[in-house]
Amino acid sequence: MIDCVAGGVKLVRQTLDVGARTWHLGLMAASVGSYNRRMGSVRSLAFWALAAVALLWGAADRALAGDALVRVRFGDPASPTTIEGKLVVEAADGGVLLLGRDGRLHTIGHAKAPKVERLDQPFVRFNSSELARALCDELGPDFEAVQTRHYVIATRAGREYAQWCGDLFERLLSAFLDHWRSAGLPLEEPKWPLPAIIFAGEADFKVFATADAGAFAGESKGYYSIPSNRIVLYDLTAGKGKKRATSAAEIKRRAAAASFNMATVVHEATHQIAFNSGMHTRLADNPLWLTEGMAMYFETPDLDGTQGWKTIGEVNRPRLTRFLDFLRKRRKRDSIATLVSSTERFIDAHKAADAYAESWALTYFLNAKHRDQYVAYLKQLAKKQPVIWDDPDARLTEFESAFGSDLKSLDAEFLRFMKSVPRH
Ligand SMILES: [Zn+2]
Repeated sequence: MIDCVAGGVKLVRQTLDVGARTWHLGLMAASVGSYNRRMGSVRSLAFWALAAVALLWGAADRALAGDALVRVRFGDPASPTTIEGKLVVEAADGGVLLLGRDGRLHTIGHAKAPKVERLDQPFVRFNSSELARALCDELGPDFEAVQTRHYVIATRAGREYAQWCGDLFERLLSAFLDHWRSAGLPLEEPKWPLPAIIFAGEADFKVFATADAGAFAGESKGYYSIPSNRIVLYDLTAGKGKKRATSAAEIKRRAAAASFNMATVVHEATHQIAFNSGMHTRLADNPLWLTEGMAMYFETPDLDGTQGWKTIGEVNRPRLTRFLDFLRKRRKRDSIATLVSSTERFIDAHKAADAYAESWALTYFLNAKHRDQYVAYLKQLAKKQPVIWDDPDARLTEFESAFGSDLKSLDAEFLRFMKSVPRH
């Protein structure tokens, strides 16, 4: 363990034993275990994220505050790669974690010999036009950018579908902020444009997603990547032999017919909003049950509304069904404790579906019965600093400090409540 102080913020980084804890750094996904799909691929998610953050391990010896722009050169000295951004962590061994102007987090290990040049300029995130240009430059000439108030959507699925998604995301964002502000959580509008990529179909999505985030992402219907801060999706209204929908009404009709998959889109968009509004901090030790429970609390699509999001906090039927089955057949007495203190049940392919269902159920219960404590817990978690990993005991203590240490009574109340939820 190494203590360090920089910019007035004391960061304590624990070494090595972060693999099982940090797999969720990489990718937040609705379908991890949620609907019994492809449970075997959950492990690949862990492995992908391990690779993504491996360069940080044994490295994050000095945390940096401040918003100075730096230029980092690394790789082949004859033709080095150059990235400009803001240092988040600078390691004693020379490795760095860099936040790019496009919001991407770059891990550049000491093996790549990064050279940091401090520029006499402030770090500023891209505005919408700059981000649009950067995305299209990266993705290729057949992408076009659609901008809404808070989003930049690079799309190969046509402007109509991108605009329809943008309108949906804007409505979700607004409802999300309103919902939590009225509950006493002072969230902020995102201070930078939120990037999204929409592919025309499943096949080209799969190629990109697999390369970007691993095999699990390639098998999903969309994902949110914490390192890139992007949601990556494809046109769910497209299909073999179908002409592309060109009106909002037709897109909505087709989306409603695919509402099962639309839930994934909403789930991923919710993750992105939560990580960009001051609720969660990227690369901080956010409890998985909390981040996933939050996304599931919002994931039921509300495609009919023109404002608001009427399905916030509705009973999530697939999750409820799974939770009640878990309760009847597999749930252990210490289930709350293991859920809130460890990622083990989320990583285990045989347990993940139950962990997701229980995360939704616990979120639903706490919001119904212990809203103020839940909000206080969210406030506490929002203060977490990046790249500091808690151990299971610390997580449990944190949970108990919000909801009380009598988990037995809480568990009894939780189960009583969930059994009383109407099934239909
Ligand atoms: Zn998720």
